[in-house]
Amino acid sequence: MKIQQIREEKIKLLAPAENMYKAAVFYNPKMAFSRNISVAALQVFKKIAGRKIVVLDALSASGVRGLRYANEISGIKKVFLNDKNPVAYKLIKKNIALNRLKKKCVPQKGDANILMHQNVFDAIDLDPFGSPNIFLDSAARSIYHKGFLAVTATDTAPLCGSYPETCFKKYGIRSLKTDYYSELGIRVLISHIILALSRRERAFIPQLSFAKEHYFRVFGKIEHAGKITDLLKQFGHIMQCFNCGNRKYGNIELRCFCGNKFEFVGPIFLGKISDRKFCAEVAKECKKKRFIEEGMLAKQLASESELPPFYYDLHYLAKVEKIKLPKIEDFIARLRKSGFKAGRTHFCPTAVKTDAGYEEIIKMLK
Ligand SMILES: [Zn+2]
Repeated sequence: MKIQQIREEKIKLLAPAENMYKAAVFYNPKMAFSRNISVAALQVFKKIAGRKIVVLDALSASGVRGLRYANEISGIKKVFLNDKNPVAYKLIKKNIALNRLKKKCVPQKGDANILMHQNVFDAIDLDPFGSPNIFLDSAARSIYHKGFLAVTATDTAPLCGSYPETCFKKYGIRSLKTDYYSELGIRVLISHIILALSRRERAFIPQLSFAKEHYFRVFGKIEHAGKITDLLKQFGHIMQCFNCGNRKYGNIELRCFCGNKFEFVGPIFLGKISDRKFCAEVAKECKKKRFIEEGMLAKQLASESELPPFYYDLHYLAKVEKIKLPKIEDFIARLRKSGFKAGRTHFCPTAVKTDAGYEEIIKMLK
């Protein structure tokens, strides 16, 4: 394997020089965005926790994520960097030495699930290539009460409903391809995390969730089992009409007003997937660290966190209802003037989130 030395923020990194998808150890420079926002989010968690924290970077590859945590976050006691691939393990050790982080970083060569079954951590980061589903049960066992869990999923196609059978198999939830696929996918992932952790009497409370390019990233805090009931109450079904674009959530209805039969999606978490205060703190932290784009996203997440689930893509509505598209800002202003909550979303540049129902939206669009 050809190795090159690169830099990400203040970390010097030995990483494979060849095509990242073919290399023995995976390093994706494009994921620096996710790592930046993760550094900020973990720093905010540390501040709230008010104690020194032990972190696990469970699927480390080159080690870049764990090294950055150790280097950029104040109040870190130890970071465990784990990879079962012997080539990655060697690279991790070299990268720790290269950055003089031996005191804070502990390299591990093992199966992430075994490691998590045997140890307890304040914060766990699961950044797999593909689905995180096979790691969640061990993470639930391994995470400290009042801990913090970060999860990446790159298998967005099944989550978003392109492959309903794969999604059902991996996540136990029925997903279908809709016009709000991006938010649906991330909510399927969150629902699965909540349910996986609740099996071990851990409540996973989402704090910051976003979709970008071909991955989802979710951060949540761990609370005691008493909070699980409240989370489960926020699960429900989506009734989706594929004749028009109507959808409903909550109580089961069989038929759309247009006469067509509803299809069902779920059961899925319909509660808040980002916490306004937490996201605002992450935005502040990003500003401090000069993560400009990441800060903008965190700010946007704070602003949309209070809006109801599932956006409406105006492009899609214009197509199915054969209407002319208004300017998105004008339409949001019109919704607000009529007393509805409304705003934009990071999930889709041509979409609005609102508590107005489908029929009301169409009436106002015409
Ligand atoms: Zn309909």
